[in-house]
Amino acid sequence: MSTFSGPVFDMAKTQFEAIADYIDIPHHERPRILLPKRAITVTCPIHRDDGTVAVFEGYRVQHHLTFGPTKGGTRYAADVDLGEVTALAIWMSWKCALAGLPYGGAKGGIAVDPYSLSRRELEALSRRYMQEMIPFVGPHTDVPAPDMGTNEQVMAWFMDTYSMYQGATVPEVVTGKPVSVGGTVGRREATGRGVAHLVARAMEHLNINPRGATAIVQGYGNVGSVSALTLAEMGVKILGVSDHTACYFDPSGLDLGAIEQHVAKHGVLAGYSEAGLFDPKELLIQPCDILVPAAVERVIDAATAAKLRCRILAEGANGPTTPDADLVLAQRQDEIFVLPDILCNSGGVIVSYFEWVQDIQRLFWEENEVKERANQILDRAFHQVLDRVKRDRVTNRTAAMAIGVEKVRDGKRKRGLFP
Ligand code: GLU
Repeated sequence: MSTFSGPVFDMAKTQFEAIADYIDIPHHERPRILLPKRAITVTCPIHRDDGTVAVFEGYRVQHHLTFGPTKGGTRYAADVDLGEVTALAIWMSWKCALAGLPYGGAKGGIAVDPYSLSRRELEALSRRYMQEMIPFVGPHTDVPAPDMGTNEQVMAWFMDTYSMYQGATVPEVVTGKPVSVGGTVGRREATGRGVAHLVARAMEHLNINPRGATAIVQGYGNVGSVSALTLAEMGVKILGVSDHTACYFDPSGLDLGAIEQHVAKHGVLAGYSEAGLFDPKELLIQPCDILVPAAVERVIDAATAAKLRCRILAEGANGPTTPDADLVLAQRQDEIFVLPDILCNSGGVIVSYFEWVQDIQRLFWEENEVKERANQILDRAFHQVLDRVKRDRVTNRTAAMAIGVEKVRDGKRKRGLFP
């Protein structure tokens, strides 16, 4: 049996096989493109506050090194496993290639509920994980970043731990850091802003006026909250939001300002209000113009896909829609416009790339430059996808993934097989 298995890995593999069939990649070439270059598993022991010792399993998967270092976030979640991290690393490869970034994909993770740790325990675990990763990461081999369950502070601890071992400050080893220690302005907001920017492009394409349009956002972390706020700034009415603690829905629109204030104070949606509490299982299938799944993978299966009542599906999360659901969406008469994850949420890694470039050059940009350059890359990728859809009459996801896979395949062919 292969080391690479599990439901999320199977999903990435199924998607890849469909693309490989579409662009005619011979079967013997496929494992070289799909399987990761390296997968590292570590155990991270820490002292708990109560004096006991606890051990957590950590992973880092580096998918391919054809264009430069690998790049991708670090996920802290109780159910993280190697199969999931591998799938996320593979998706990072197609995402970086579609955006034209000089990276392969990577992803890391620790099987831990970060909310169950004290701040001291979280720091100890983050530092130990980075210390275990020192032989495998580096500014020109693999550059970690945040993902679900991690944030700027965790990236600062990663950078500090790596730098202490080098004997010099190496900000370019990690992106998504606080601006004060080599982060870039605009990185924290980049993924959500990118989602909203592409939704605006999709609305132009479909002739939908943002003023008066409606949206539902699943997941109120970094990606979901900034997506909701930026859409609201464009005049879109936010009807529903949810996180792992609560779900709110109001067909006449939620008070996003009040929700923001509550989340800034309490960290989660729970306790915001008694009114408008809603069943999270029903949220995705309420009528709206724009649906933004910005939480975890595989929330839209075939049954849910048949019931969606949105016009634009903007995938803020990685892998929210299963391959079975894609088949259902492709057959629906009402044609939901899908902004596939590797396009829709690529604003984050695009601005991570800017952070890495700025750190290497020790030359920092103004926020406007960050925003404008990110939008340029997003627009280029968006139009490449639409052109491909028109040319080959394929779905948006197929077009986006095919562009990514083709670039990786082409890079490998041009470089050749060593030795
Ligand atoms: N974790 C984010 C993603 O899934 C960002 C990765 C990065 O900035 O390197 O795209």
